[in-house]
Amino acid sequence: MSETKEKEPLNFIEEIVQQDLESGKHQQVQLRFPPEPNGFLHIGHAKAICLNFGIAEKYGGKCNLRFDDTNPLKEETRYVENIKKDIQWLGFDWEEREYFASDYFQQLYDWAVELIKKGKAYVDDSTAEEIAQLKGTPTQPGSPGPYRDRSVEENLSLFEGMKNGDYEPGSRVLRAKIDLANPNMHLRDPLMYRIIHTPHHRTGDAWKIYPMYDWAHGQSDSLETVTHSLCSLEFEVHRPLYEWFIEQLGLFPSRQYEFSRLNFNYTVLSKRKLRRLVEEGHVNGWDDPRMPTLSGLRRRGYTPASIRNMVDRVGVTKQENIQDIALLEYFIREDLNKTAPRVMVVLDPLKVVITNWPEDKVEDMEVINNPEDPEGGSRTMPFGRELYIERTDFLEDAPKKFFRLSVGREVRFKGAYIIKCEGFTKDADGNIAELQCTYDPETRSGQDTSGKKVKGTIHWVSAAHAKDVEVRMYDRLFSAEDPTQDENKEGDEQKDFLYYLNPDSLTVVEHAKAEPSLANVETGGQFQFMRKGYFVVDPDSSAEKLVFNRTVGLRDSWAKKNKKK
Ligand code: ATP
Ligand code: MG
Repeated sequence: MSETKEKEPLNFIEEIVQQDLESGKHQQVQLRFPPEPNGFLHIGHAKAICLNFGIAEKYGGKCNLRFDDTNPLKEETRYVENIKKDIQWLGFDWEEREYFASDYFQQLYDWAVELIKKGKAYVDDSTAEEIAQLKGTPTQPGSPGPYRDRSVEENLSLFEGMKNGDYEPGSRVLRAKIDLANPNMHLRDPLMYRIIHTPHHRTGDAWKIYPMYDWAHGQSDSLETVTHSLCSLEFEVHRPLYEWFIEQLGLFPSRQYEFSRLNFNYTVLSKRKLRRLVEEGHVNGWDDPRMPTLSGLRRRGYTPASIRNMVDRVGVTKQENIQDIALLEYFIREDLNKTAPRVMVVLDPLKVVITNWPEDKVEDMEVINNPEDPEGGSRTMPFGRELYIERTDFLEDAPKKFFRLSVGREVRFKGAYIIKCEGFTKDADGNIAELQCTYDPETRSGQDTSGKKVKGTIHWVSAAHAKDVEVRMYDRLFSAEDPTQDENKEGDEQKDFLYYLNPDSLTVVEHAKAEPSLANVETGGQFQFMRKGYFVVDPDSSAEKLVFNRTVGLRDSWAKKNKKK
């Protein structure tokens, strides 16, 4: 790193880490990313991943991957596998440090027994409703139930029975014995264990009780000697509880720091809601290109760099915020603009016949692959008597400022000739069926001796050489900025977030006409379709038919809006 390089300002967590290293509080930092394997990772998780792995990288520390798999009712191995794939794809590496909260079940159980022996935990036979009732409200203290003062021996024996499967799910819980009057509800004798007889994706039938997240999380951090345990703001009120457990057990004092979640408009970032979208069939799976999951974004054509850059730009604070989805689009455009080869694909084809072009003649036109990339090279495109252009590039009654085709007007066909529209024919329904045009032989691109100036340049493909491809055009998944806006309203005003699904979020163009150079592209290949946007080859592609997803259009509304501000 050069000495003169301007230092980026530190975010508040980096400041803490730096101080802790300078003061000698820690010799090396240890972080972790702790996903629950109950769904796919979404763009919000990308922030937590970049932050945790990023700090470890920046300060020469380590970052673990730990699956918080404490709930067998919701967790699956396939989620574990996809989470790993997504983190790797983003560009981060946990090396051999792959852990599971379920690896700590025995240790957690032993610690619970320790707390029972100290009189700090008890088995409660009350129903969930009774427990809630006796907990009080934020303004009213709770009161002890009939089981709070059970003897240590009775608690130990009941807890063991719970573990062995002697009792029905829901019949008993283990609670910490803390303070039923504490202003922080999380300290009013929180649950530590519940009885669940469902097999776990890793421990199978070994356990009939499962630790609550709040009981497992802090101790898992301690076991991994996590120095800075970073999580989103909603866990701030849980922190005193984590600290109480650690203190009672005399464990490594992990310290938790909270930051604000990343949110975007026009989408939802809660796994519970994303799961509904998948399970109720509103999208085609977790990796549907409309989903804000990392797998969805990858399939949509988002690059790891574009996501990391976006996360950098958003920064790390404690302020709640909702980002404009256009911000994400800005960063993928910026990335692809540099790397994506330009190609010509006609989405809504209109046939053009060049009447002064010999029937069987084909000329190869040389076209630059990417004007933004000096090393990008060029390719040739065959030009013949019959071509396709976009239907929208012709108007029968064109206004003066329409710099495309209309009878008597001229445009340049990109990389080829200046073409003049001489006439058109309509089909029986009155639609334009074909344009008759002429080309000017003096105007070949790069060898133009005509001195002609035309205002419009349009893309085209040779009809004889074009390849039929399917193009999937995506729009926002929701039509409301905040699809959850009416979730908590009363009566008729109450609306589920699905009410705001955008019915036009996917439009399929079945027979777009692509230039022949696209015949042999591979899944994941990314291109700029000239004048249309950025596109990526979808895994649904087969030898018979290529399928492209539109990643993002070319227009950059975010940059424009920002300029205005
Ligand atoms: P969701 O509400 O989507 O289910 P979660 O918090 O339950 O998210 P976890 O798998 O428990 O999902 O999250 C793993 C880590 O990612 C946690 O540390 C959590 O704080 C963080 N995280 C989750 N969502 C976001 C977000 N939108 N922005 C930043 N960090 C997030
Ligand atoms: Mg969670």
